[in-house]
Amino acid sequence: MKYRGRFAPSPTGALHAGSLIAAVASYADALANQGEWLIRMEDVDQGRTVPGAADAILRSLENYGFEWQGSILFQSSREHRYAEISNELLNRGYAYPCACTRREIAATGNAGIEGIIYPGNCRAGLPSGREGKSIRVRTDQRPICFHDRIRKRHCQVLERDVGDFVIRRADGYTAYQLAVVVDDADQGINQVVRGADLLLSTPRQLWLQELLGFPRPEYAHVPLLLDSQGRKLSKQDQAHPLSDRNPLPALLFSWRFLGQAPPEETPSSVQEFWKWAKTHWNIGTVPSR
Ligand code: GLU
Repeated sequence: MKYRGRFAPSPTGALHAGSLIAAVASYADALANQGEWLIRMEDVDQGRTVPGAADAILRSLENYGFEWQGSILFQSSREHRYAEISNELLNRGYAYPCACTRREIAATGNAGIEGIIYPGNCRAGLPSGREGKSIRVRTDQRPICFHDRIRKRHCQVLERDVGDFVIRRADGYTAYQLAVVVDDADQGINQVVRGADLLLSTPRQLWLQELLGFPRPEYAHVPLLLDSQGRKLSKQDQAHPLSDRNPLPALLFSWRFLGQAPPEETPSSVQEFWKWAKTHWNIGTVPSR
């Protein structure tokens, strides 16, 4: 099967040093495997989308010498497809409407690996007089395991560690977990290389793939660039803006950050860098922290 990877930025701000690292890793891995590489704009949450950010990201990627296949998929154009899949999960009994507010969940739920574990209030049906605002997918006690190409084996018991999770939010937007699974499947993505902040989301995505009969891609989670307080850089903090006019130093920084040996001679252009990178990328030396 031909390698098909992707970079899926959320257009909540300009490309920054942290997202460049994820882009470099996924592109270099696709190049090294003679694969295809696609771009998807994860603008499903319209409330967080910043006008102009998608264009700015694409312009930066061009300046950094990335070349992608085909047209760019915008999640904002896919609500119809996500609704179809949510309805399928509801009709098959894999998902249910939920009326709980955040406050109700916080009052009775225990802390899980990422936020509060949903205590299951609406699992057996909506309490009388309450309206379903969000949709949750049922989880169970079976361990969900996968082999990450960098992090090795990783398992979660979803019901214990996360609880039934949201696939359609109370504000009407499709949740990231569902959108990413539907898009990866519809775009034929079989290799996902992305930031390690999404490692803990992966079992939820594998669970949805299993329920929907979608193929499971391979995953590789690369280390995150952290700020001086040890937090993931976000597009909202402008601490590490990238220079579109002088892209090579940032590419070389990303390359070294990913545990890759630098070229002996500094390449003269981004094109030359990528030509060299294609034959020198080694996922085996990416740090697993
Ligand atoms: N849109 C996500 C982000 O910008 C990435 C999602 C993914 O790669 O699965 O962090």
